[in-house]
Amino acid sequence: MNKLAEYAVTEKNSRGRCFAEQTPLGRSEFQRDRDRIIHSGAFRRLEYKTQVFVNHEGDLFRTRLTHSIEVSQIARSIARCLHLNEDLAEAVSLAHDLGHTPFGHAGQDALNLCMKDYGGFEHNLQSLRVVDLLEERYAKFDGLNLCFETREGILKHCSAENAAALGGVGERFLNGQRPSLEAQIANVADEIAYNNHDVDDGLRSGLITLEQLNDVPLVANHLRQVRNEYPNLSERRVIHETIRHMINTLVSDVIESSERNIKEYKIVSLDDVRNAPPILSFSEEMFEQQRTLKNFLRTHLYRHYKVMRMSNKAQRIISDLFEVFMKDVRLLPPQFQIHAEADRARAVADYIAGMTDRYAIREHKRIFAVGDLSESLI
Ligand code: MG
Repeated sequence: MNKLAEYAVTEKNSRGRCFAEQTPLGRSEFQRDRDRIIHSGAFRRLEYKTQVFVNHEGDLFRTRLTHSIEVSQIARSIARCLHLNEDLAEAVSLAHDLGHTPFGHAGQDALNLCMKDYGGFEHNLQSLRVVDLLEERYAKFDGLNLCFETREGILKHCSAENAAALGGVGERFLNGQRPSLEAQIANVADEIAYNNHDVDDGLRSGLITLEQLNDVPLVANHLRQVRNEYPNLSERRVIHETIRHMINTLVSDVIESSERNIKEYKIVSLDDVRNAPPILSFSEEMFEQQRTLKNFLRTHLYRHYKVMRMSNKAQRIISDLFEVFMKDVRLLPPQFQIHAEADRARAVADYIAGMTDRYAIREHKRIFAVGDLSESLI
């Protein structure tokens, strides 16, 4: 194996697990975390949760599952080049979206609005809640009992109020520290993955066009190069070749610019990483280009009227379900009724957040399709 840098997270400098367990045989502690994540129910459900498009709109669009796998591939490549802990970067990447609601950001916004008087809803925090509490797989503890560094990496943002309630894993939000470089990698890899695959999915859906992308330098530069080099290439291959170049450029840029930061801030230990400004970053030029692409996607894809119609419908499904369960918890499956005794709103939010897109649509029908009472029993 690649020799790790002195500022990488290792089993030796790890803050370990909440519940002590025997050392795993034949795999590292962080490989065990990755394995637990892959075997969780929440991970399997990512297959039927969306990023931008609802799951049944087309078989080739990214889902949260394929997105998470792409994030982990990019994160591992960066971690390996920087001599960091690839297994940890992989575990954080695979777990980073476990707490996402159905219907992507529209679902999260709707659930957050429903929960505004009950502590709000934030998908990062929910991902942590899934691995700390909601997965019921082990005899001795709730959740997956992951290592501190994996949990810390999952919690990307957090309000001061929530951080205070979280204990160790929330501390850095209160004292202004940074997470490990492996966690920072997963964060950047997430951004690289979604910006690029949203261009691909956006083009495939026909909601955006290559012509429009001529105004976005990051895409236009590579597009021009590809067309010059291969004048007779089919449109599909031009798109894939362009996106491949873009990912490669962004990954190389992050690696080079992070190496510069490591030198500039004289990082020689994990403590240095925690106390320095963010190390994993794009160069200024690439940061700007990424920002232009993001703005383009926001205006032309995420706010496309067809996407807005879908989001609007999705938000109604979420708020209808929330309202009906809050009024009568007896409509919840039994295990959530038990949780509702302690905190009704949080139990309802946990139930809704765990739903896949199609499950939420079906559940809405089961409860609200009054024309057909037999629907309720399916
Ligand atoms: Mg993500």
